[in-house]
Amino acid sequence: MSRASTSFSLVITVQNFLTPLAVPFGTPPHGFGSRAIAVIPAGTSVATFGGTATTHSTFAQYDAERRSRSIQVDTNLIFLGPPTREPGDSINHSCEPNCGMRNATTIVAMRDIAIGEELTFDYAMSDASNYDEFDCNCGTAMCRGRVSADDWRLDTLRNRYKGFFSPYIQRKIDAERHRSLLTKRDVEEMLASYDRQPVLALRNALRKCFGMPHATWETLIELVTQQPHEISLLLSLNTNALDNLLKTLNETRGAGL
Ligand SMILES: [Zn+2]
Repeated sequence: MSRASTSFSLVITVQNFLTPLAVPFGTPPHGFGSRAIAVIPAGTSVATFGGTATTHSTFAQYDAERRSRSIQVDTNLIFLGPPTREPGDSINHSCEPNCGMRNATTIVAMRDIAIGEELTFDYAMSDASNYDEFDCNCGTAMCRGRVSADDWRLDTLRNRYKGFFSPYIQRKIDAERHRSLLTKRDVEEMLASYDRQPVLALRNALRKCFGMPHATWETLIELVTQQPHEISLLLSLNTNALDNLLKTLNETRGAGL
C-alpha cells in the first residue's frame, strides 16, 4: 500500500485483478464469489493474485479469513492476500470448475463462460498444503466431498486438468513420475551403499530419479516432499527420516532393469 503525499488524494494499490467481464458478489454466510457479466471466451485471464510472500510459519500467524484469500506458489512460499478483500479475491473452488491456472498466480478460463455463470477453479490445481482443507458443497456432479492437500495426486484430476496446474503443482507431479524411473539396478546400488554412506546413496538415487546429475541434497529434498517438517528432518539427516526415504524409493521404483 502507498499513500499520496497530500491529504487530499489517496492512492489505493490493488494487489489482485478481476476481469471487467465479471463482478464479485457476496453470498453470506458462505463467503464471496465472482460471476460473468459478459461472455468470457476460453483462454481469457480472468484474475490474478498478488499479496505478500510468506513462509508457512509467518503465514500461520494471520487470521483464517485472510489466509483463505491466499495462494501457494512454492514449497514454502505462500502469497498472503491483502488486508481487506478485493474483487480478485473472490474466485471460489469447484470440483467441476470452468477456470484453471495459467501460471502461479493467474486464473484462466478453461472454456467459454456464459453470462451469469460463477467463475471457479479447483484448489487442487494450486495448493498442496493443509491450511485450506474443507468439506465441499459445490453441488457439481463431480464433487469429491472433501477438498484436501493431496488431491493433486488423483489420476482423474491430473487427466482432467492437464495444462491447468500451477507450476508448483506440475513440478510435484513431474517429480513423482520421475521417481518411477528408478531401475532395479539403481535400487540395488542404493541399498548396497546405504549402510556405509546413507546420504550419498540416497542423493545418487534421487539425482537419477529427477534427471538432475548435479543437484544438491537441499534441492533434491524439496522435490521429494513438500512438508516443511519432513524437509527439516531430512536436512538435519534424521535417521528415521532417511530410513523412510530409502523405503519409499525402494517401493516406488519402476519396473525397468
Ligand atoms: Zn465439490
